[in-house]
Amino acid sequence: MYRSHNCGELRIADVNKEVTLAGWVQKSRDKGFMIWVDLRDRYGITQLIFDESRTEESVMQLAKSLGREFVIQVKGIVIERESKNANIPTGELEVLVKELTVLNESQLPPFTIEDETDGGEDIRMKYRYLDIRRNPVKNSLLFRHKVTQEVRNYLSNLDFCEVETPYLIKSTPEGARDFVVPSRMNPGQFYALPQSPQTFKQLLMVGGMDKYFQIVKCFRDEDLRADRQPEFTQIDCEMSFIEQEDILNVFEGLTRHLLKNIHNIEIEKFPRMTFDEAMKTYGNDKPDIRFGMKFGELNAVAQHKEFPVFNSAELVVGIAVPGAATYTRKEIDALIDWVKRPQVGALGMVYVKCEANNQYKSSVDKFYDQADLAKWAEATGANEGDLILVLSGSANKTRSQLSALRMELGNRMGLRKPNEFAPLWVVDFPLLEWDEDSERFHAMHHPFTSPKPEDMHLLDTDPGKVRANAYDLVLNGNEIGGGSIRIHDKDMQALMFKHLGFTTEQAQEQFGFLMNAFQFGAPPHGGLAFGLDRLTAILGGQETIRDFIAFPKNNSGRDVMIDAPATIDNTQLDELSIMLNVKG
Ligand code: ASP
Repeated sequence: MYRSHNCGELRIADVNKEVTLAGWVQKSRDKGFMIWVDLRDRYGITQLIFDESRTEESVMQLAKSLGREFVIQVKGIVIERESKNANIPTGELEVLVKELTVLNESQLPPFTIEDETDGGEDIRMKYRYLDIRRNPVKNSLLFRHKVTQEVRNYLSNLDFCEVETPYLIKSTPEGARDFVVPSRMNPGQFYALPQSPQTFKQLLMVGGMDKYFQIVKCFRDEDLRADRQPEFTQIDCEMSFIEQEDILNVFEGLTRHLLKNIHNIEIEKFPRMTFDEAMKTYGNDKPDIRFGMKFGELNAVAQHKEFPVFNSAELVVGIAVPGAATYTRKEIDALIDWVKRPQVGALGMVYVKCEANNQYKSSVDKFYDQADLAKWAEATGANEGDLILVLSGSANKTRSQLSALRMELGNRMGLRKPNEFAPLWVVDFPLLEWDEDSERFHAMHHPFTSPKPEDMHLLDTDPGKVRANAYDLVLNGNEIGGGSIRIHDKDMQALMFKHLGFTTEQAQEQFGFLMNAFQFGAPPHGGLAFGLDRLTAILGGQETIRDFIAFPKNNSGRDVMIDAPATIDNTQLDELSIMLNVKG
């Protein structure tokens, strides 16, 4: 028996017990005649005491040689501490050591194994196994475990069945690039790793499984924007014989269950917003509704005056920043510079200070009088003391620029409180979105998404206007889940592929298996997938997912600990019938 207790377990009631503990040396304090060691394991820290007058000399000597992160085992007696530590559960006691065994020595770790470490991101990733010993990372992994357990409980109780689907498949269209794996047994042919189990879960519905879920890895070979991982985890779900409303209810229930069981927060009905409304009000299809600064469109009140910039704009839109009328010229200029950064891309920004007694001071006083500006204040909901910030230009770009500014201000002003949770559904997404590069429509969600029957007639005449039975669950300004009601009819699916620019042959080659399946009695079905990494991070009050993943990759898609990806040797290449000709 390596241990009788773990390092977080002993309490004052255990005094006088003989115990055996094992763990890592967190730190030691050597006073010569007395040595204290903090012994750490996953469960906590227990203080050990070696006392010249009560501990054998050979044990004292060995204790003096202990370094940080040595793995040791001790036998001793639980005694009451003289100076108690109220900050840890074992803080009232210590273990007077009688026997000490060094199970393994350790090199000095390259960074401190403390909550606030001196190790930077790179070194922590290289020695991730040491990083995992730190509370913030360890606790994040334990937290993730709790979230997944709650998800499994909730869905299993509703009769969902967890089914595994293959990783070695062929392309699934989630809009990203595939990771591919060469097939040794089929020279020149490649598997693709799933961007999601989308087609398989639909086939499970054709197979009559009725309610499916899977906590599953997905792989997308994208340029890694901040806080994305090339492999990430979804809670993937699908149901048969349901309508959109059923899906929203079940997964609203799941989210409510998580908030209740993890944070003891009860949220009534989640608000719903159409995609159009979200774009108009927040410039964003995943609005953070924990704070205001809703968009006020100003075309009607700001155009047809003498200000040419606004007159030529498709959209003039502003937000009222609460209490910011006191900003100095310098502070406002800094905000203007912020929106002009290439990442945001605005050409300029107009401001109006709403001062006492309905007095307005603006950067466009030359073109607008007080009565004009009062209308701007009304449209943006500005009160005395607020600062109105206005952008203009083409509608989509301007909305996304103002949305970026709104989020930045939300962050700066502390309005995005990590422990406040504001979920909402965004519904009625467009079916298709225009892609400037390829100059054609792409499926906004994926090609299996069902159009709204009432919009079907627009498919030929005005495809961009067709809405889909597609929905996203948004939490605190992040899309944490998304899905749709699917097409379950072969002809309809063929029509959709045609609209997406596939020839009949291409559609058959890539998705023939699905359309064939639809000929054998496919039930009406739909589903969604949650991003587990992000969901966990947000529930954990954080916005970066990395610490909730045991072994994440860096921004270049590398695992710096195991040093992957890596070259493979010629024998392996030969077996795969592959000759390399690596460019540039
Ligand atoms: N497969 C979709 C995705 O990964 C989710 C869904 O439609 O169920 O986003």
